[in-house]
Amino acid sequence: PSGATTGTGRGTEGVPAAVARPGENPADGARPGTRDLLRLLRGSGRTVGASLALTVVGTALGLLQPLLTMRLIDRVSADRAVTALIVTLAALFLVQAALEAAGQYLLDVTGESVVRRLRRGLVERLLFVRLRDLDGRRAGDLLSRVGTDTTMLRDMVAGSFVQLVTVTITGVGAAGLMLWIDPVMFLVVAGTLVIAAVLVAGVMAGIRTSTEQALAGVGAMTADLERALGGIRTVRAARAEHREAERIGADVDAAYTAGVRSAKLGSVVGPAMEIAVNGSFLLVLLVGAVRVSDGSMSVSELVAFLLFATYLVMPLAGLFNALSLIQRGLGSLRRIEDVLRLPVEQDPEDGAPVPLPAPAASPATPPPLLELRRVSFAYDDRPVLRDVSFSVPRTGLIALVGRSGAGKTTIVSLAEKFHEPDAGHVLFDGVDVRGVDPRDLRARIGLVEQHAPLLYGTLRDNLVYAKPEASEREIREVLRMVNLEELVERLANGLETEVGDRGFNLSGGERQRVAIARALLARPELVLLDEPTSQLDPINERELTDVLRDISRERALLVVAHRMSTVRAADRIVVLDEGRVGAEGTHEQLLAEDPFYRRLTTDHLTPPLGRPAPD
Ligand code: ADP
Ligand code: MG
Repeated sequence: PSGATTGTGRGTEGVPAAVARPGENPADGARPGTRDLLRLLRGSGRTVGASLALTVVGTALGLLQPLLTMRLIDRVSADRAVTALIVTLAALFLVQAALEAAGQYLLDVTGESVVRRLRRGLVERLLFVRLRDLDGRRAGDLLSRVGTDTTMLRDMVAGSFVQLVTVTITGVGAAGLMLWIDPVMFLVVAGTLVIAAVLVAGVMAGIRTSTEQALAGVGAMTADLERALGGIRTVRAARAEHREAERIGADVDAAYTAGVRSAKLGSVVGPAMEIAVNGSFLLVLLVGAVRVSDGSMSVSELVAFLLFATYLVMPLAGLFNALSLIQRGLGSLRRIEDVLRLPVEQDPEDGAPVPLPAPAASPATPPPLLELRRVSFAYDDRPVLRDVSFSVPRTGLIALVGRSGAGKTTIVSLAEKFHEPDAGHVLFDGVDVRGVDPRDLRARIGLVEQHAPLLYGTLRDNLVYAKPEASEREIREVLRMVNLEELVERLANGLETEVGDRGFNLSGGERQRVAIARALLARPELVLLDEPTSQLDPINERELTDVLRDISRERALLVVAHRMSTVRAADRIVVLDEGRVGAEGTHEQLLAEDPFYRRLTTDHLTPPLGRPAPD
């Protein structure tokens, strides 16, 4: 069954990095270099080749221009017709322009397809990676890799290659031609070129630094504003608007300052270029005039050299621009590769995944549906679970109780294989889940998260998320179970109402009931509910507990509970005390035998109906 599921996670061919082995820190990956850049273009080889060919031909044609001009002057001085030459020069300009346009178009298209390939690769990778690799990463940072960094690579592909190819061909070709015409003058032109390069490089380096500072300022602004808007109610309640505006305003100011500096330097680029071009023009003219007057050079040759000199100096700014684009592109490529290198969850650690027994095909004395055997677990060396053992039978309601931070949610995560235990075993239907494809496992389990999120779309989309093919009758049935029928009737568009951020804002309790309905609709063998009633009012809570009791007659339910009424309804209660199973039994047994449970019921569990509930 795994073949189909694992295949979908690998939409990253053409991506410049091998998949790292599990446990390897992706940040340690080698810095990307030229080879990685070239591999970026692998899927677009033909387009890039065509574009390069067009650029090469166009640039080479450009080199003919000084030569033809030279010939033209010779013919004029010899009083011969030049119409044909002028027509040829005009045609040359036109062809060159057309080739340039076509070459640039092809490169732009290549840039777009590189972005598409990287974005698709990133999106798939992010949806498929192991959860522990997502923990501790900021969503905003990951988003900027998919958005900004890929754009940077597009600009690099579309903007820098033409420049590099043009400058290289022009440089090599012109050098060869100049050496052929007059080696001494070639040295003069080369000298002016070095001076011009130093001048332009200095300005461009300054611009690059300021541009980076401006980008950093914008990045900080985005991150800070995102956080402030996310918690806007807390910001207002703390009357911290001014403080936030000041702080985020400072990021804006930093971007402004850097932008102004970059503008200053930018205004120097034009004059610097002019000085470079005119300076080399003058130098060539000066030395050339001497050489023409002493007869070692013709006038037409001097004109050709003047053209070559401007030809070589003009693209310098473009060259430095291209180099800085590549430098920035390499930084983006590294950030993108960090993500692309993350291993996907399904990568089996050793060998093919182990199949789970079919749901109906259990032996005469079936094992518990879920069993934890001496499980220990730590988040980054911070131990959370120690030697935890308990089991969930195939039917019945098991409650998991404990103080906040005791490790209850962690147990749920281990059962779903969001994390792997450091020691011990998690067994589903008698099979150690370590070797099982997590998607096979999750097909048999329903989950109600502690802070159940609404996902994209309408109320119906949210309900059928785990079972898109659910029938109308099935949907109505779960809506009735979780007491949401009334809400659906109240909504103008019923099930088709958009919910969530951009739609109808459901209350915490309604959201929780949607999450429960979503989990129940798929009729899984095991339902994990993490504090599913924390936001419900006592009446809804009691009704839901009755529903859970009903369901538990034919299915297994593991409920992380902090409400007395749910705990009392449980067939068995597992008491978690600082990462260990402190006691296990029915409510009455535990009350009689376990002092920790007694304390828990009075201090930590919300009392049953009749006494005021704190939330
Ligand atoms: P409970 O659900 O019982 O309140 P949890 O299982 O959520 O407890 O958490 C147990 C402990 O592990 C807590 O101290 C919590 O801070 C810590 N913890 C939970 N998730 C992570 C994580 N992703 N990284 C590091 N520590 C975590
Ligand atoms: Mg929890």
